[in-house]
Amino acid sequence: MNNHFDCLVIGGGVLGTFHAYHAMKRGLKVALIEKGRRPQGATVRNFGQVVPSGMDRKWQQYGRESLRIYNELQSQIDLTIRNEGTIYFASDEEEETLLVELSEINKQENYASRILSRQECLKQYPGLKSDYVRAGLYFPEELIIEPEVMINRLQDYLAEKGVDIYFGTLALSCDVNGGKVEVACAGNKNFTANKVIICNGSDLDTLFPEIFAQSDLEVVKLQMMQTVPQRNFNIKGAVLSGLSVRRYESFRECPSYRLINEKEDVDSQVKKWGVHILFKQALDGSVIIGDSHHYATPTKQDELGFDLDMDIDEFIMKEARRIYELPDDRIKYRWYGVYVQCSQKDIFQKTIDQHIHIVTGIGGKGMTGSAGFSKAHIDHILNQ
Ligand SMILES: Cc1cc2nc3c(=O)[nH]c(=O)nc-3n(C[C@H](O)[C@H](O)[C@H](O)COP(=O)(O)OP(=O)(O)OC[C@H]3O[C@@H](n4cnc5c(N)ncnc54)[C@H](O)[C@@H]3O)c2cc1C
Repeated sequence: MNNHFDCLVIGGGVLGTFHAYHAMKRGLKVALIEKGRRPQGATVRNFGQVVPSGMDRKWQQYGRESLRIYNELQSQIDLTIRNEGTIYFASDEEEETLLVELSEINKQENYASRILSRQECLKQYPGLKSDYVRAGLYFPEELIIEPEVMINRLQDYLAEKGVDIYFGTLALSCDVNGGKVEVACAGNKNFTANKVIICNGSDLDTLFPEIFAQSDLEVVKLQMMQTVPQRNFNIKGAVLSGLSVRRYESFRECPSYRLINEKEDVDSQVKKWGVHILFKQALDGSVIIGDSHHYATPTKQDELGFDLDMDIDEFIMKEARRIYELPDDRIKYRWYGVYVQCSQKDIFQKTIDQHIHIVTGIGGKGMTGSAGFSKAHIDHILNQ
């Protein structure tokens, strides 16, 4: 009976961990199962920007709820949250038009934002190139986190609050039997639960691979870099460039977006490699720079390769140097991360026999949207 839970979550990434958190807050007996010794997917390989401003209206609501949840948690445990806001820089007239239009949309949504003049941007963001920036749009409520530290501390906190966490535990099968779900794991570990929530991230081969093979999921590989620590130099919050303005979902809701987008060169390196430029300073003073996007279907994930393409890294750095002059832009670490997203929908959800709930494919919005989305999803599952 010790291995029976009200709710068992498979996958210790940000999506699974926040599902476990909200189930625990509902007073349930909860287990979280993670195949790695600690979380090992996209959740520990990302920027750590919590930016509802980049999401469409639906996900902005989840993102804003996430801000509230992160702030509430930070008042109890240090999740490395820094309330430094988000800035989008426009480098030309088109991007500036999109900033102004997004700021109007956010006024209607009662979400605080402020247009910054070129001079204000240069004053508030030392190192920003004066021949790059034309204007900025600042979102004061948004956060940055150190993703790997955050998720580990959050899981330690859940364990203290009574969630049973099993690391190094690979779930191999889930079957409904007599109104309960039986979960079999490698090493002959077995669990049962009334509800199982599978947040498997980009592992599409272990549980229910046939469902993923027929889905609209796509696997996305992103290249990232981190400089050596900078001395006496600060970049405030999440920094997104004109290329992000041209790419992020929120801007697609701007009246001028379609015409601007149609004019873009589809054969450019920016499009070929899916590059847009973001910066975030880590707590040690280093600056994280990215990223690129390459896509594959679930059954052809290996075709993305296991190496870094140095042509892409050099292109990202060339673009980054047009935007920022860092005191020391030597690169200390390079890596890639992988997430999954749906090509048609905003997230992948599938319920099996009323007791097994698969949810993955949150795409590039997981650090921003998971806390808020999971709360609504747990409410939905438990009220069914
Ligand atoms: C380079 C990069 C930069 C990004 N930057 C940002 C950003 O700044 N802001 C933002 O909002 N989002 C960002 N994202 C997106 C964000 O990281 C993802 O949306 C999010 O981490 C996905 O979380 P997840 O829990 O669904 O998946 P994952 O983090 O991949 O977690 C899934 C977990 O499930 C475990 N697992 C899978 N199958 C099993 C099984 N059968 N048994 C046991 N365990 C299992 C895996 O080991 C893994 O730990 C970025 C992503 C990348 C790759």
